[in-house]
Amino acid sequence: MHYARWRLYGDVSDDHAFGNVSDFKRRRALMAKIRVDELGCWVWTGTKTAEGYGQMRVGGRRRDYTHRVSYQLHKGPIPEGLAIDHLCKNRACANPEHLEAVHPRINAMRGDAPGIVAYRTNRCKRNHEFTPENTITVGGRWRRCRTCENAWQRERRAKKKAAVNAMPVGEPNPHPRTPPSSRPA
Ligand SMILES: [Zn+2]
Ligand SMILES: [Zn+2]
Repeated sequence: MHYARWRLYGDVSDDHAFGNVSDFKRRRALMAKIRVDELGCWVWTGTKTAEGYGQMRVGGRRRDYTHRVSYQLHKGPIPEGLAIDHLCKNRACANPEHLEAVHPRINAMRGDAPGIVAYRTNRCKRNHEFTPENTITVGGRWRRCRTCENAWQRERRAKKKAAVNAMPVGEPNPHPRTPPSSRPA
């Protein structure tokens, strides 16, 4: 009997469990600190993380992100292994219509980290296109822009040359190719 019930509802992991606080109370706590902005975002006005995500208590001392709580309240359990993505890009938003459960990799791809932008736009941060000719592959995984790499190498050589030219004439070479022999002749 118990087994049948367990099978019916599935194994509700601790991550999704709402403790002993009812959904009604939780919804009330969530909505009490929500302000709807002009874009329709449900902006959390309570505690936020350093990254700008809303945070709230979810029973006892446990806390969770408000967008996760809202998703679970309005749309149901978060599928195993998926992350909640903000389609509106407002991290403090808890509007279930702006939330989508996605694979974490897709979530990261929608972000704005330089590597991610390069992946999405197929251009380096200086806007050179990653054509096969312009791409240096590092370790079969990371790409480097050849145009930028060449510019960097040129700059490095120029700096080195300038440093050599700036050396006072007559000073001993600080990096002799062969060390002076200290052995008596
Ligand atoms: Zn939103
Ligand atoms: Zn480049």
